[in-house]
Amino acid sequence: MPVPHTTNGAAINGELRRVQVLLPLPLPGVFDYRVPPELEIQPGAFVSVPFGRREAIGVVWSESNAGEVPDSRLKAVTDRLEVSALPESTRRFVDWVARYTMAPPGSVLRMAMSVTDALFPAKPRMAYRLAGNVPDIRMTPARKRVIAAAADGFPRPTVELAREAGVGVGVVTGLAQAGVLEQVEMAAPRPLKPDPSAPSLALTGEQRDAANRLVRSAADRGFAVTVLDGVTGAGKTEVYFEAIAETLRQGRQVLVLLPEIALTAYWLERFTDRFQAPPQQWHSELTQTQRRRTWRAVTDGTAAVVVGARSALFLPYRDLGLIIVDEEHDGSFKQEDGIAYHARDMAVARGSIEKIPVVLVSATPSLETVVNVEEGRYRLIHLPSRHGAAGLPEVTVVDLRRDAPPRQRWLSPPLQDALRNTMEAGEQALLFLNRRGYAPLTLCRACGHRMECPNCTAWLVEHRLARRLECHHCGYSAGYPEHCSECGAEDSLVACGPGVERLAEEVHALFPAARMASLTSDTVRGPAAVEEMICRMRRHEIDILIGTQIVAKGHHFPMLTLVGVIDADLGLTGGDLRAAERTYQLLHQVAGRAGREAKPGRVLLQTYNPGHPVITALAEGARDRFIEEEAEQRRAGGWPPFGRLAALIVSGPDEAAVDAAAQRLARAAPRFAEVRVLGPAPAPLARLRGRHRRRFLLKAPRSVSIQRLLSEWLTKVRAPSSVRIQIDIDPYSFL
Ligand code: ADP
Ligand code: ZN
Repeated sequence: MPVPHTTNGAAINGELRRVQVLLPLPLPGVFDYRVPPELEIQPGAFVSVPFGRREAIGVVWSESNAGEVPDSRLKAVTDRLEVSALPESTRRFVDWVARYTMAPPGSVLRMAMSVTDALFPAKPRMAYRLAGNVPDIRMTPARKRVIAAAADGFPRPTVELAREAGVGVGVVTGLAQAGVLEQVEMAAPRPLKPDPSAPSLALTGEQRDAANRLVRSAADRGFAVTVLDGVTGAGKTEVYFEAIAETLRQGRQVLVLLPEIALTAYWLERFTDRFQAPPQQWHSELTQTQRRRTWRAVTDGTAAVVVGARSALFLPYRDLGLIIVDEEHDGSFKQEDGIAYHARDMAVARGSIEKIPVVLVSATPSLETVVNVEEGRYRLIHLPSRHGAAGLPEVTVVDLRRDAPPRQRWLSPPLQDALRNTMEAGEQALLFLNRRGYAPLTLCRACGHRMECPNCTAWLVEHRLARRLECHHCGYSAGYPEHCSECGAEDSLVACGPGVERLAEEVHALFPAARMASLTSDTVRGPAAVEEMICRMRRHEIDILIGTQIVAKGHHFPMLTLVGVIDADLGLTGGDLRAAERTYQLLHQVAGRAGREAKPGRVLLQTYNPGHPVITALAEGARDRFIEEEAEQRRAGGWPPFGRLAALIVSGPDEAAVDAAAQRLARAAPRFAEVRVLGPAPAPLARLRGRHRRRFLLKAPRSVSIQRLLSEWLTKVRAPSSVRIQIDIDPYSFL
């Protein structure tokens, strides 16, 4: 066959060179392009290509021999971008995640190239410094101040120089025009290098053994997953710092994944103390400039340690040598929106692709992880005791059926006593209630109507400080009504149940002299504000801290000796597979805030179910027994981690269309003896953000490829464009 020749044709040895380009778009596959001979392009290169009527940026995924598009109709790659290629391991990881989660590979790629800006050379940062010989000009006080500020000879950006001199930007540019200042290009700041040989704490024998094993695993450079299991305060962080040091000595990069709210200044401070330089951060609060810099530093290898929330896993590391997943059991590692993935599981996959060690760290490892240890896939390192004098806090169960608080009050007599003793001793207390706002339900005394969200199957939550009713699912918010929207009665609305605002009211009434603060996403917005409050607590400027789960994580308050859990039963209801496990982990973590230094800690759990396995396990410190019982139940039912689970969520604005699609799916459902399809059932959140929702749950033995089953199933059914079918492999939310 003759090779077609176009005027700008690309014939290499008489043949056209084709490549497949993956675009960061939710499309099924790659696209073929022709490579003009003048472009030097390798797999992984970032390229600009014509796509439809516009130019798109994508990544060369592979060479291609021949595609469906005939040579003559093939469009050419427009250009190659001046940025390091996407490493092969990152490309393989993108493919792997796409296959596992059944998401379009382009959507996964988008997570890896989330900062489009970073693909282009940075605009040079211009700065001013004093010119060699100062010409004779009219002097003003403002001009003199600028010259004085610049006298040290260091170049400064315009705005900075103006700010330092206390003048307007115009004065600086005026001096530049007059030739007093000259412009120079400033080099982009490079990240400081963490120093692995900086002095570390003297580890205890137990910690040293654990650290040595981790260091050996890091030195071996192969894929291996190690679980670092130890009570809160055992020194797990200090121990994994040693593995980080070893990886830094090898000159390779380290990724530390933390749940977003655990990424505190305290952690960063400790890291910086240990390594004499801060790590690079990656989370949702960064500015565009910070993202751009970090992305580039990750891909060119100058970022030695990245600490971040789950999305940091998708960055294009040049030479990753170690992944640490701290608080590996934490539910926030599971992303529900968009591509549903679990960052802990994907971290293990990335480790296997990169052939590097992965360390999972927790005081309450997930059942998935425990079973992986039992079955020999993961290694276990155990740190049984708290560092130094600190013992584990004593946990007391308060049976609310016997020791009930007064009506419309939430602090039982024993908890009130404990608070009083703590205040008298000059120590601190933490009250935990995982409910924002004033009250979770508002109803009309006259007609019994419950205030519901117009978009969701959910009650509206009263926020008394803001005088509003809010939906915690969709963000709907309305002013607090004067009268019942159903019967019109006035002054008939009553608050039911407690939220943190209401609890604060009660605490203030009981302890008017105590310095009290509440820490929730309503009262304290943004990481800097959270940090500020944590610091106030650490400096003992607060006596009683009331909070939602934000307070549970990783904080270290030396004078905190009492933790009160207002409603230990809160997470136990509902048909969630992991309700018990999750409640255990959360309450264990909250309890672990008490008595972290010399003073012993106490924990009071208020419950109506003192006999519940979660409560008795917490009270008796019988973590392993709890895990065993939980494992037994899941094994018997074939639930994860002993079986596989996937969810399909069918949703759309039109209920009839959603039901029709769900029925078609039901008729086409796979029928195999060992596979069970549950549903379609209205989701517990049958309406969310105005969309009607139906759920299927697919349950299969571990030997079955649930992805294969799903894709065969889904190809049989066509849904109208108004209906969306979301796939959630290994679901954690059943709402
Ligand atoms: P974990 O991560 O297991 O909760 P951390 O590493 O945060 O434990 O340690 C708890 C506290 O004990 C921290 O303040 C830490 O600095 C301190 N600590 C741990 N090990 C040592 C040690 N060997 N020497 C001095 N302080 C230590
Ligand atoms: Zn809503």
